[in-house]
Amino acid sequence: MSNEEYFYTFCDACNEVPMCGIKFLSEGDLVIKVKSWLDFPMSPPCLKAYILPQIRHHPKRLLYPIMRTRNKDSPDPDGLGFHGMKPTILLSLNLRI
Ligand code: SF4
Repeated sequence: MSNEEYFYTFCDACNEVPMCGIKFLSEGDLVIKVKSWLDFPMSPPCLKAYILPQIRHHPKRLLYPIMRTRNKDSPDPDGLGFHGMKPTILLSLNLRI
């Protein structure tokens, strides 16, 4: 029998309403595993929920924006990566005057 204790919450990786239910396992302040909250109406979560620990604890998370690395229309569209540019440079590239 496992003595792992999971905590229940919502995924906040997108603007989906209502948010998808997840449960997570932590070690101290670190989330180490995410699973589906099976009885929650918005379940199962998508891939983004499962990679939340890698995103939340990545050392570059506050310095570089996370951007989709594959086209939305590709057969495997969920590639997310840290973009090499600083957020202010990306913002200025997207500004339309
Ligand atoms: S699991 Fe996916 S669809 Fe659901 S709230 Fe998270 S990112 Fe959005």
